[in-house]
Amino acid sequence: MPARTPPPRRDNPHRNKPRRSVPRRTQIIAATVLTALAIAFLGGRALLATDTPAPEDVAISAVLAEAAGASTAIERVEVDDDAQRVWVFRAGDAADRPSLTATYPLGTGWDLVERLVDEGIEVDTQLRSAPSMWSSLLPALIPVLLLLAFLYYVLVRRGGMGGAGAGRLDKRRAGAVDVPATRFDDVAGVDEVVDELRDIAAFLHEPDRFAATGARMPRGVLLEGPPGTGKTLLARALAGEAGVPFFALAGSDFVETFVGVGASRVRQLFDKAREAGRAIIFIDEIDAVGKARASGPGNAATEEREGTLNALLVEMDGFVGSGIVVLAATNRADMLDPALLRPGRFDRRVTVPAPDLGGRRRILQLHLRDKALGEDLDVDLLARRTPGMTGAELEQLVNEAALVSGRAGRLAIAGGDVEEALQVSMLGRARRSASVTERDRRITAWHEAGHAVAALLQPAAPDPVAVTIVPRGIAGGVTWMDGSDDQFLTRSQANAQLVTLMAGRAAEERLLDGDFTSGAAGDYQGATSLAYRMVTQFGMSDLGVAFRPVGGLEGERAARVDSAVDEILDGALASARALLDESAALLEGVAELLLHEGTVPVGTIRGLLAPAA
Ligand code: ADP
Repeated sequence: MPARTPPPRRDNPHRNKPRRSVPRRTQIIAATVLTALAIAFLGGRALLATDTPAPEDVAISAVLAEAAGASTAIERVEVDDDAQRVWVFRAGDAADRPSLTATYPLGTGWDLVERLVDEGIEVDTQLRSAPSMWSSLLPALIPVLLLLAFLYYVLVRRGGMGGAGAGRLDKRRAGAVDVPATRFDDVAGVDEVVDELRDIAAFLHEPDRFAATGARMPRGVLLEGPPGTGKTLLARALAGEAGVPFFALAGSDFVETFVGVGASRVRQLFDKAREAGRAIIFIDEIDAVGKARASGPGNAATEEREGTLNALLVEMDGFVGSGIVVLAATNRADMLDPALLRPGRFDRRVTVPAPDLGGRRRILQLHLRDKALGEDLDVDLLARRTPGMTGAELEQLVNEAALVSGRAGRLAIAGGDVEEALQVSMLGRARRSASVTERDRRITAWHEAGHAVAALLQPAAPDPVAVTIVPRGIAGGVTWMDGSDDQFLTRSQANAQLVTLMAGRAAEERLLDGDFTSGAAGDYQGATSLAYRMVTQFGMSDLGVAFRPVGGLEGERAARVDSAVDEILDGALASARALLDESAALLEGVAELLLHEGTVPVGTIRGLLAPAA
């Protein structure tokens, strides 16, 4: 069965995202063609020059002298009375290669012809015309014209070297105005932001209603947040809800190699918006333009950026009372030039955070809404397992899951498909071809079983969700823990984490009769870093609550921190050993299951626990 492709999205906000590859390619092609033409042209001239040597330019008296007398070598003469020029062919000259050429005084052409005919020389007239000024200049002008055409194309038609987004401007010029189909319903998990934007949508939709009350529409809204949290989506949804066109560019498009291009693109963008009357202008990555102005001498790039920034400020100050709202997105509002944040400019600042648990659930539901779902697909669990993921990452996850289920020929997305997608997105695809020795597989199985059992048996540790020894990316095996949005870590949670980390090594010791491998290095690293923070920042050791910045310590105090860390880590390892001593049967059971199955869900582990308990 062929792999199903996921159904097309109703509205893909990336459709209008800047795409750099095509314009770059166009530029490269243009540059190549240009160079090729120039080379061909120069080469052609060089060939011409060597193949057809110019005739010797002599005085007309020299021609007449040579023509005089019966034994003259001149066979034929071509005369161009327009140019007052003669070309002289001696015997043996090729038809297009005269030996001599000369000019004669105005009005003496006919005399000349008579005298030559008298000498018995054949005379042709008007056969050969001296190259006119244009025909001699044109070849030299061709490369210049091509270059000018190229620059015109790049600078004016496309609006800049970066090219991204210029296609959109062209589309506007052609009269196609894009009112996005996106609605606020397409955005989930950022309700506060949507509420804020709803006002603006109402304003744009019915300006009169608000004008009556004397309310002033905000001109600029700054959306602050990490990439992928839906800022572009929100801006499109605002335009969609208000029923106004959406114009977008990324800040990096403004910052160009050619001075003045950025500013002209800003003006172009605002012109188009003004033409549309009411509009949303969206500027992604505004920090690329609006970085706080550095003092001191600037280079060309900073000058260009400042020119662009000034153009932006001028445009924003210019549309008082118009129906244009500018939305800008940034991840670094702290770096923005204060001039941008002044009243009348981007005076509304809205934070677009990464979604919390509830937000993730709703984003997942949103992206799953037009997909067929298997009964075992647990959206709640999935939301819990994806802390820190942004809307864009969740969308990608859902997409990947649909691909996995399609590849397997399933009609609905099963829980396992999402599991696979999650592991792919975090660790990479399963390395089916990876050759793992039986010994290493066995050690990995015991190691991961140790983590899983320790996590399961400690109330303060996060629940494991699944364990796998299928190699992926660089990982040989993984124990998945239930994610949590909790920001604060209690001391017992921190200790439970350390014991869980150390349980991998403790499990190896049981398998190898006290010996152990190098495979736990990553665990130690994580554990050490956590223990250090417990001692120096969290006040979670016997050293007390004094805040001790790492690296700022010397001598005896540093030694005390080190020994406190050692103590915590040694204690965690001892606890892990004791824990696994008590549940040796469970450990072995999980390890054997892993060797057999590759991946074991937590439910199965709990099933093993019941008889043991
Ligand atoms: P940003 O502009 O903040 O980098 P985008 O708006 O480009 O993020 O988000 C990329 C894609 O991720 C969106 O098109 C959408 O499919 C998905 N997405 C991101 N955030 C959300 C959200 N809050 N709700 C629904 N989908 C989201």
